[in-house]
Amino acid sequence: MPTYQFRCLTCGDFDRTYPIASVPDHTRCVECDSSARRVMTAAGLSSGNSQAMRLLDATARTASEPRVVSSPPRSGRPSPRAVRAADPRLSTLPRP
Ligand SMILES: [Zn+2]
Repeated sequence: MPTYQFRCLTCGDFDRTYPIASVPDHTRCVECDSSARRVMTAAGLSSGNSQAMRLLDATARTASEPRVVSSPPRSGRPSPRAVRAADPRLSTLPRP
């Protein structure tokens, strides 16, 4: 998604990302929640199909649409068998 610049009369300029088809003329200021007007600049378009842009979009999306998980993440150390399977060189080491 491209980045657009908005200007709050109190706090100054800030950037927000919106889909091209639905960019508003006004939005709420990120600091004081008052109305902020869009500043006409070139949309922050770059290589939108690159892996880096997809990662940035996915990271920004987690702020507003966090994934719902069904169980807590696994904690603790991985089993010794899993460690040996991840690196085959470890299987050649002497074992107690
Ligand atoms: Zn403001």
